Amino acid sequence: VNDADVPAASKALCQSCNAPIIWTVTAAGKPMPVDRAPGGHGDTAANLKLTVVGGVVRSRVLAAHLAFGNTSLHLSHFVRCPQSKVWRKPSQYKRRSTPR
Ligand SMILES: [Zn+2]
Repeated sequence: VNDADVPAASKALCQSCNAPIIWTVTAAGKPMPVDRAPGGHGDTAANLKLTVVGGVVRSRVLAAHLAFGNTSLHLSHFVRCPQSKVWRKPSQYKRRSTPR
């Protein structure tokens, strides 16, 4: 997603580590903080494709074979946030085995 396309209301700073994040909505309708800087992992299920629909940033998990080498993907902030174990709720982050 282009940074310019992200609604200002969706941009924030992580309250734990102060990193720039984007608040997104997952396929399950749950809020999910994502690192604002693009860059995925080749080896994790946390590669997210972001799309802006009606002013809401939606995040979708891509399968590893689709995500590999794709530099426009974003990574869930849960992966890198040093405080994620403190504030992350397991129910907000479920791995999806089948991509949409
Ligand atoms: Zn953080």
